[in-house]
Amino acid sequence: MTDITTVTVLGTGVLGSQIAYATAYAGFDVVAYDIDEPALEKARERFAGLVTTYEAEVDGAAGGKAEAGLARINVTSDLAAAVADADLVIEAVPESLEIKRATWTAVGAAAPERTIFATNSSTLLPSDFMEATGRPDRFLALHFANRIWVQNTAEVMGTPKTDPAVYATVVDFAREIGMVPIEVKKERPGYVLNSLLVPLLNAASALWVDGVADVETIDKTWRIATGAPLGPFQIFDVIGMVTPYNIARTSDDPTQQKFAEILKRDFIDAGKLGAASGEGFYSY
Ligand code: NAD
Repeated sequence: MTDITTVTVLGTGVLGSQIAYATAYAGFDVVAYDIDEPALEKARERFAGLVTTYEAEVDGAAGGKAEAGLARINVTSDLAAAVADADLVIEAVPESLEIKRATWTAVGAAAPERTIFATNSSTLLPSDFMEATGRPDRFLALHFANRIWVQNTAEVMGTPKTDPAVYATVVDFAREIGMVPIEVKKERPGYVLNSLLVPLLNAASALWVDGVADVETIDKTWRIATGAPLGPFQIFDVIGMVTPYNIARTSDDPTQQKFAEILKRDFIDAGKLGAASGEGFYSY
């Protein structure tokens, strides 16, 4: 058991709303911060949507438990008030170094001494902005996956300055909110999951773009030969086309740039955004 009872989540977008709700669902008091009233209004809609999703997809959530989780979340656009009584702050603001640094500088100035600081950043290293917190020994990355109630990994990655006791507390907290903690022992862009997944997806797109094999063949090979439930193009469909497009179009690799062109022309512009839109590499 950790001593954590009150958790503040900064940013209530795709991931922040899921982190805030999962934490409240597990019984913690949650303060969810976003920049202004329109953003908070969207947050309320996202939380209401998560109640419906949990009732439909999470065992035991129907019949009051999902609604009780919602009642434990308070929202605010006052950052200093949001962190004033936080045992743990989890930051899920946009993936921009400037925004992360500015946010953590403000949090560091306002939070109590005891507070633990965690970032959900996917692509930045925590050491890139640890100094902005003013207390890097209490700061680390706690990285969730989208659709947190099903894909419940929580990668815990410190910096060389993270206090081991803080790291251990965050591992325990991740377990307390129903996650499977993944202990990443060294800083590494992409943590464990994306260090594995990105090379697989790049290899698959290169095989396809170079005309070596078609989508179905590549997926079938991976599924049958490894026992994996999904092939790489089925995974692209789950992720959606926009994130892979943004990564491929900024790559130096001509094959990845070609892949980006195809994703834009044949998929994004055609409204085939992946499984959530009903069509991507496959129809759903
Ligand atoms: P998002 O754009 O959906 O949400 C960002 C939220 O931050 C919005 O609610 C926005 O109003 C708010 N915001 C905007 N400017 C702000 C500011 N200056 N200060 C505070 N809040 C501000 O983004 P997201 O997809 O939820 O990603 C947030 C973080 O989570 C990123 O660091 C990203 O790398 C990480 N992440 C995302 C995913 C994913 O699948 N989307 C998965 C894992 C980690």
